[in-house]
Amino acid sequence: MSVLKTKGLSKVYGGKNNVLYTALQGLDLEVEKGEFVGVMGPSGSGKTTLLNILATIDKATSGQLEINGINPAKLNDHQLALFRRRELGFVFQDFNLLDALSVQENIILPLVMEGLKPKVIEERLRPLVKMLQIEDLLAKRTYEISGGQKQRAAIARAIIHEPSLLLADELTGNLDSKSAKDVMDTLQQMNTNMNATILMVTHDPFSASYCKRIIFIKDGKPFTEIYRGSNRQVFFQQILDTLSLLGGDFDDVSFPRA
Ligand code: ADP
Ligand code: MG
Repeated sequence: MSVLKTKGLSKVYGGKNNVLYTALQGLDLEVEKGEFVGVMGPSGSGKTTLLNILATIDKATSGQLEINGINPAKLNDHQLALFRRRELGFVFQDFNLLDALSVQENIILPLVMEGLKPKVIEERLRPLVKMLQIEDLLAKRTYEISGGQKQRAAIARAIIHEPSLLLADELTGNLDSKSAKDVMDTLQQMNTNMNATILMVTHDPFSASYCKRIIFIKDGKPFTEIYRGSNRQVFFQQILDTLSLLGGDFDDVSFPRA
């Protein structure tokens, strides 16, 4: 079953002096349940634009989008808010946790908003925080924990309501390499153990090497895609090779780790 399907997705921005800029040009995309997909491309290739459209924060100029069989363009504001809350999970570069709340309160927020009973919430919370190895941090405030721990808490929050699709934007962008590895290991676990469907935009070849498939885009169009075999190191090298084929500017690409 496909969780995400786009057909001819295009986005045109109006700029200064009525100059139009095409950020996405007829993108066809299909992501099946349980896939772990990375999207890479040079700066300005349309990654953020794509993610914003998938997140239903922005609307495509033309083309179709379906998430879990639903076309968000057909929903009213109230339905869209519910759709976003139930079908989607988000992880951002800068964590977006609420400082006024404890780690636990941050994580369970989506379930509290759904009005679930404390007992049910507790039953969802325990195995998840155990898997993410943040069970000892639950009472802490967000400023008392490390970047990697914050991002794992953010992953827990993004996934606790079992969304159809987890969207991540440069989630290791603000982490050192050890924390980035921990975060990618846990994201991989979410994919393997919970069959979470993940789409992740990243500049970082190391983080991308955890994906099972990577779609490279250039000038708002698909350039090529590659699939991971059994070996992450080999895939990492393949990613570097494809990026150099792709050309263009990669503002914050770091090439050292593997
Ligand atoms: P990426 O995330 O891959 O760097 P973006 O999706 O941010 O690329 O941008 C794709 C192109 O669209 C860029 O050329 C960018 O300048 C342009 N663009 C992005 N957002 C806007 C906007 N709000 N108005 C006008 N042009 C935009
Ligand atoms: Mg971007």
